[in-house]
Amino acid sequence: MADRQAILQELGLTPVWRLRERTSIGADRDDSAPEPAVATVPPLTSSDRAVRIATLRWEDFAKDVSACTACALCKTRQRAVPGVGDPHAEWLFIGEAPGAEEDAKGEPFVGQAGRLLDNMLAALGMKRGENVYIANVLKCRPPGNRTPTPLESESCRPYLDRQIALIEPKLIVALGKSAASTLLNVDASIASLRGRLHRYRGVPLIVTYHPAYLLRNLLDKAKAWEDLCLARATMRALRSDSDLQHGTATPK
Ligand code: URA
Repeated sequence: MADRQAILQELGLTPVWRLRERTSIGADRDDSAPEPAVATVPPLTSSDRAVRIATLRWEDFAKDVSACTACALCKTRQRAVPGVGDPHAEWLFIGEAPGAEEDAKGEPFVGQAGRLLDNMLAALGMKRGENVYIANVLKCRPPGNRTPTPLESESCRPYLDRQIALIEPKLIVALGKSAASTLLNVDASIASLRGRLHRYRGVPLIVTYHPAYLLRNLLDKAKAWEDLCLARATMRALRSDSDLQHGTATPK
């Protein structure tokens, strides 16, 4: 028990934070009230949009993303790329934005970088879709695979936040600078962010190199492996902590 506490503290995992109950904005609306006349309905504001997205159900999520016109990327995308995997996964991997192959298929990380990500998952004994969800900060491809602008990231953020709230992952792995700086709201190098535990809205988060970067910088693969080992150790500690909390821990 003391050991477990010490390990959790060492990993920066105490106190354990939990996502709040899902918001029920609008739940107290009186449905029996008469509909307002069409002419009096005010135009949708960005906060209306944020509230709508914050209350989306999983079954409506992909359709909503595919219909999004909040930024100019909707004009150049072939397909929106909402995300893929187990909707209640413990692991959530977040990349930057779809590339050409993802844009054509509507699925994240299906190109060369995606094959490396699949290999990284396999090294951890995991598989795409099994207790893993993969998403990007942006759901639409920036032309020429350019870096997302802050405005594009902000426009798309309500979708990422909703995914995180719906999945309730135990651990987020941010792949690359773009995902890390968007989620942590810092402009810092991966080298300065990796190797320790962060949090996004209370969810433990680990930063590592983007698979596309690793394809060009083979020497940093060893560091990425260290990051994945830290992620695996963190997940184990989180699981044993939640086993203890739920009284399902098996005695050693
Ligand atoms: N790079 C990303 O960040 N995401 C993808 O889906 C593909 C490549």
